[in-house]
Amino acid sequence: MRRPVIAGNWKMNGLVREARNLAGGILKKLEGFEGPEVVLCPPYLAIPAIRDVLSGSAVRLGAQDVFWKPKGAYTGEVSAAMLVDAGCTHVVVGHSERRELGETDRMVNDKVRSALEAGLTPILCVGERLQEREKGVTFEVVERQVVQGLSGFAPEQVARIVMAYEPVWAIGTGKTATPAQAQEVHAFIRGLVARGSGAGTADGFRVLYGGSVKPDNIRDLMAQKDLDGALVGGASLEVDSFVKIVRYKG
Ligand code: PEP
Repeated sequence: MRRPVIAGNWKMNGLVREARNLAGGILKKLEGFEGPEVVLCPPYLAIPAIRDVLSGSAVRLGAQDVFWKPKGAYTGEVSAAMLVDAGCTHVVVGHSERRELGETDRMVNDKVRSALEAGLTPILCVGERLQEREKGVTFEVVERQVVQGLSGFAPEQVARIVMAYEPVWAIGTGKTATPAQAQEVHAFIRGLVARGSGAGTADGFRVLYGGSVKPDNIRDLMAQKDLDGALVGGASLEVDSFVKIVRYKG
Protein backbone atom coordinates (compact mmCIF):
# COMPACT_ATOMS: atom_id res chain seq x y z
CA MET A 1 0.00 0.00 0.00
CA ARG A 2 1.33 3.40 -0.99
CA ARG A 3 0.08 6.23 1.20
CA PRO A 4 -0.80 9.18 -1.05
CA VAL A 5 1.00 12.49 -0.62
CA ILE A 6 -0.52 15.88 -1.34
CA ALA A 7 2.17 18.57 -1.33
CA GLY A 8 1.61 22.31 -1.75
CA ASN A 9 4.35 24.26 -3.52
CA TRP A 10 3.77 27.89 -2.66
CA LYS A 11 6.63 29.06 -4.89
CA MET A 12 7.59 32.73 -4.39
CA ASN A 13 4.25 33.76 -2.90
CA GLY A 14 3.25 35.14 0.44
CA LEU A 15 4.80 37.31 3.10
CA VAL A 16 5.29 35.62 6.46
CA ARG A 17 1.97 36.87 7.83
CA GLU A 18 0.08 35.58 4.78
CA ALA A 19 1.92 32.27 4.87
CA ARG A 20 1.02 31.85 8.53
CA ASN A 21 -2.66 32.52 7.79
CA LEU A 22 -2.66 30.07 4.91
CA ALA A 23 -1.03 27.27 6.91
CA GLY A 24 -3.27 27.99 9.91
CA GLY A 25 -6.39 27.88 7.74
CA ILE A 26 -5.38 24.60 6.13
CA LEU A 27 -4.57 23.05 9.49
CA LYS A 28 -7.90 24.10 10.96
CA LYS A 29 -9.86 22.50 8.13
CA LEU A 30 -7.84 19.29 8.34
CA GLU A 31 -8.28 18.87 12.09
CA GLY A 32 -8.94 15.22 12.90
CA PHE A 33 -8.70 14.26 9.22
CA GLU A 34 -6.77 11.14 8.41
CA GLY A 35 -5.91 10.63 4.77
CA PRO A 36 -3.01 11.49 2.55
CA GLU A 37 0.29 12.70 3.92
CA VAL A 38 0.18 16.50 3.59
CA VAL A 39 3.29 18.60 2.99
CA LEU A 40 3.46 22.40 2.81
CA CYS A 41 6.42 23.99 1.02
CA PRO A 42 6.51 27.72 1.77
CA PRO A 43 9.25 30.12 0.68
CA TYR A 44 12.44 29.75 2.75
CA LEU A 45 11.86 32.84 4.87
CA ALA A 46 8.44 31.64 6.02
CA ILE A 47 9.73 28.20 7.10
CA PRO A 48 10.33 29.07 10.79
CA ALA A 49 6.87 30.63 11.12
CA ILE A 50 5.17 27.69 9.43
CA ARG A 51 7.10 25.25 11.60
CA ASP A 52 5.48 26.92 14.62
CA VAL A 53 2.02 26.80 13.04
CA LEU A 54 2.36 23.10 12.15
CA SER A 55 3.96 22.07 15.43
CA GLY A 56 2.13 19.10 16.96
CA SER A 57 0.17 18.39 13.77
CA ALA A 58 0.68 15.64 11.21
CA VAL A 59 1.20 18.14 8.39
CA ARG A 60 4.81 18.13 7.26
CA LEU A 61 7.05 21.00 6.28
CA GLY A 62 9.04 21.11 3.06
CA ALA A 63 11.40 23.51 1.30
CA GLN A 64 11.36 24.27 -2.42
CA ASP A 65 15.05 23.69 -3.10
CA VAL A 66 18.35 22.76 -1.45
CA PHE A 67 22.02 23.14 -2.30
CA TRP A 68 24.20 20.04 -2.67
CA LYS A 69 27.19 21.17 -0.58
CA PRO A 70 27.03 20.85 3.22
CA LYS A 71 28.57 24.27 3.95
CA GLY A 72 31.00 26.88 2.76
CA ALA A 73 31.37 29.84 0.45
CA TYR A 74 28.15 29.46 -1.57
CA THR A 75 26.48 32.83 -1.29
CA GLY A 76 22.71 32.64 -1.23
CA GLU A 77 22.46 28.86 -0.97
CA VAL A 78 20.78 26.78 1.76
CA SER A 79 22.06 23.38 2.86
CA ALA A 80 20.09 20.26 3.69
CA ALA A 81 21.26 20.41 7.33
CA MET A 82 19.92 23.97 7.56
CA LEU A 83 16.54 22.76 6.32
CA VAL A 84 16.43 19.97 8.89
CA ASP A 85 17.48 22.44 11.58
CA ALA A 86 14.60 24.70 10.54
CA GLY A 87 12.09 21.86 10.88
CA CYS A 88 11.77 20.58 7.30
CA THR A 89 11.16 16.91 6.57
CA HIS A 90 10.78 17.26 2.79
CA VAL A 91 12.36 19.21 -0.04
CA VAL A 92 11.34 19.72 -3.66
CA VAL A 93 14.27 19.04 -5.99
CA GLY A 94 14.58 19.60 -9.73
CA HIS A 95 11.36 21.56 -10.20
CA SER A 96 11.04 22.54 -13.86
CA GLU A 97 11.11 26.21 -12.88
CA ARG A 98 14.64 25.60 -11.55
CA ARG A 99 15.65 23.38 -14.44
CA GLU A 100 14.63 26.25 -16.76
CA LEU A 101 17.15 28.43 -14.87
CA GLY A 102 19.96 26.03 -15.72
CA GLU A 103 19.70 23.19 -13.20
CA THR A 104 21.08 20.03 -14.82
CA ASP A 105 20.30 16.36 -14.12
CA ARG A 106 23.71 16.14 -12.44
CA MET A 107 22.88 19.02 -10.09
CA VAL A 108 19.49 17.47 -9.36
CA ASN A 109 21.15 14.15 -8.53
CA ASP A 110 23.59 15.91 -6.18
CA LYS A 111 20.73 17.73 -4.48
CA VAL A 112 18.80 14.48 -3.97
CA ARG A 113 21.94 12.95 -2.43
CA SER A 114 22.42 15.85 -0.02
CA ALA A 115 18.75 15.68 0.99
CA LEU A 116 18.89 11.93 1.62
CA GLU A 117 22.11 12.20 3.61
CA ALA A 118 20.49 14.79 5.87
CA GLY A 119 17.41 12.60 6.40
CA LEU A 120 15.06 14.68 4.24
CA THR A 121 12.52 13.21 1.84
CA PRO A 122 13.30 14.58 -1.62
CA ILE A 123 10.33 15.27 -3.89
CA LEU A 124 12.14 14.79 -7.19
CA CYS A 125 10.40 16.47 -10.13
CA VAL A 126 10.61 15.27 -13.71
CA GLY A 127 8.60 16.10 -16.81
CA GLU A 128 8.76 17.02 -20.47
CA ARG A 129 8.31 20.41 -22.11
CA LEU A 130 5.53 21.03 -24.63
CA GLN A 131 7.93 20.89 -27.63
CA GLU A 132 9.25 17.56 -26.35
CA ARG A 133 5.75 16.08 -26.07
CA GLU A 134 4.91 17.35 -29.54
CA LYS A 135 8.12 15.87 -30.92
CA GLY A 136 7.16 12.51 -29.42
CA VAL A 137 10.15 12.32 -27.06
CA THR A 138 8.27 12.44 -23.74
CA PHE A 139 9.43 8.99 -22.64
CA GLU A 140 13.04 9.66 -23.64
CA VAL A 141 13.12 12.90 -21.64
CA VAL A 142 11.44 11.38 -18.60
CA GLU A 143 13.70 8.34 -18.73
CA ARG A 144 16.81 10.52 -18.79
CA GLN A 145 15.60 12.62 -15.85
CA VAL A 146 14.53 9.59 -13.80
CA VAL A 147 17.64 7.50 -14.47
CA GLN A 148 20.05 10.38 -13.88
CA GLY A 149 18.11 11.71 -10.91
CA LEU A 150 18.23 8.32 -9.19
CA SER A 151 21.74 7.47 -10.31
CA GLY A 152 24.02 5.98 -7.67
CA PHE A 153 21.35 5.29 -5.04
CA ALA A 154 20.79 1.93 -3.40
CA PRO A 155 17.22 0.56 -3.44
CA GLU A 156 16.73 1.55 0.24
CA GLN A 157 17.63 5.15 -0.69
CA VAL A 158 15.36 5.15 -3.74
CA ALA A 159 12.55 3.94 -1.49
CA ARG A 160 12.85 7.14 0.53
CA ILE A 161 12.39 9.37 -2.51
CA VAL A 162 9.03 10.68 -3.71
CA MET A 163 8.87 11.50 -7.40
CA ALA A 164 6.62 14.07 -9.04
CA TYR A 165 5.76 13.77 -12.71
CA GLU A 166 5.06 17.32 -13.83
CA PRO A 167 4.61 17.87 -17.56
CA VAL A 168 5.98 21.39 -17.96
CA TRP A 169 3.16 22.35 -20.35
CA ALA A 170 0.63 21.68 -17.57
CA ILE A 171 2.29 23.74 -14.82
CA GLY A 172 0.43 26.94 -14.07
CA THR A 173 -1.33 26.82 -17.44
CA GLY A 174 -4.69 25.40 -16.46
CA LYS A 175 -4.00 22.57 -18.96
CA THR A 176 -3.97 19.35 -16.97
CA ALA A 177 -2.70 16.11 -18.45
CA THR A 178 -5.62 13.76 -18.96
CA PRO A 179 -5.75 10.97 -16.37
CA ALA A 180 -4.75 8.54 -19.15
CA GLN A 181 -1.77 10.67 -20.21
CA ALA A 182 -0.60 10.91 -16.61
CA GLN A 183 -1.13 7.20 -15.91
CA GLU A 184 0.90 6.24 -18.98
CA VAL A 185 3.94 8.18 -17.76
CA HIS A 186 3.50 7.14 -14.12
CA ALA A 187 3.47 3.48 -15.10
CA PHE A 188 6.56 4.08 -17.24
CA ILE A 189 8.35 5.69 -14.27
CA ARG A 190 7.43 2.76 -12.01
CA GLY A 191 8.87 0.44 -14.65
CA LEU A 192 12.13 2.42 -14.68
CA VAL A 193 12.35 2.17 -10.89
CA ALA A 194 11.71 -1.58 -11.09
CA ARG A 195 14.48 -1.92 -13.66
CA GLY A 196 16.96 0.09 -11.59
CA SER A 197 16.04 -0.84 -8.02
CA GLY A 198 13.89 -3.97 -8.18
CA ALA A 199 10.16 -4.72 -8.26
CA GLY A 200 9.75 -4.47 -4.49
CA THR A 201 11.11 -0.91 -4.40
CA ALA A 202 9.00 0.05 -7.41
CA ASP A 203 5.83 -1.30 -5.77
CA GLY A 204 6.20 1.01 -2.80
CA PHE A 205 7.59 3.97 -4.76
CA ARG A 206 5.30 7.00 -4.75
CA VAL A 207 4.85 9.02 -7.92
CA LEU A 208 2.85 12.24 -7.60
CA TYR A 209 1.30 14.14 -10.49
CA GLY A 210 1.75 17.91 -10.82
CA GLY A 211 0.33 20.35 -13.35
CA SER A 212 -2.82 22.41 -12.78
CA VAL A 213 -4.27 20.03 -10.20
CA LYS A 214 -7.56 21.49 -8.95
CA PRO A 215 -10.44 20.30 -6.75
CA ASP A 216 -12.41 19.35 -9.87
CA ASN A 217 -9.77 17.13 -11.48
CA ILE A 218 -8.02 15.49 -8.52
CA ARG A 219 -10.53 12.64 -8.19
CA ASP A 220 -10.14 11.40 -11.75
CA LEU A 221 -6.37 11.69 -11.52
CA MET A 222 -6.24 9.80 -8.22
CA ALA A 223 -8.36 7.02 -9.70
CA GLN A 224 -5.36 6.05 -11.84
CA LYS A 225 -3.49 3.01 -10.63
CA ASP A 226 0.01 4.51 -10.59
CA LEU A 227 -0.87 7.98 -9.29
CA ASP A 228 0.08 8.36 -5.65
CA GLY A 229 -0.77 11.97 -4.94
CA ALA A 230 -0.20 15.46 -6.23
CA LEU A 231 2.25 18.32 -6.16
CA VAL A 232 0.01 21.38 -6.24
CA GLY A 233 1.08 24.92 -7.14
CA GLY A 234 -1.62 27.53 -7.74
CA ALA A 235 -4.43 25.68 -5.97
CA SER A 236 -2.30 25.31 -2.83
CA LEU A 237 -2.36 29.07 -2.26
CA GLU A 238 -5.98 29.08 -1.19
CA VAL A 239 -7.24 27.24 1.90
CA ASP A 240 -10.45 25.85 0.43
CA SER A 241 -9.04 24.62 -2.86
CA PHE A 242 -6.06 22.95 -1.22
CA VAL A 243 -8.18 21.31 1.47
CA LYS A 244 -10.64 20.04 -1.18
CA ILE A 245 -7.70 18.46 -3.01
CA VAL A 246 -6.46 16.82 0.20
CA ARG A 247 -10.00 15.58 0.91
CA TYR A 248 -10.46 14.35 -2.66
CA LYS A 249 -12.26 11.25 -1.51
CA GLY A 250 -15.02 13.45 -0.07
C1 PEP B 1 3.96 23.13 -9.42
O1 PEP B 1 4.34 24.21 -9.02
O2 PEP B 1 4.68 22.15 -9.22
C2 PEP B 1 2.66 23.04 -10.09
C3 PEP B 1 2.25 21.87 -10.49
O3 PEP B 1 1.96 24.20 -10.27
P1 PEP B 1 0.39 24.31 -10.72
O4 PEP B 1 -0.38 23.40 -9.83
O5 PEP B 1 0.06 25.76 -10.49
O6 PEP B 1 0.33 23.91 -12.14
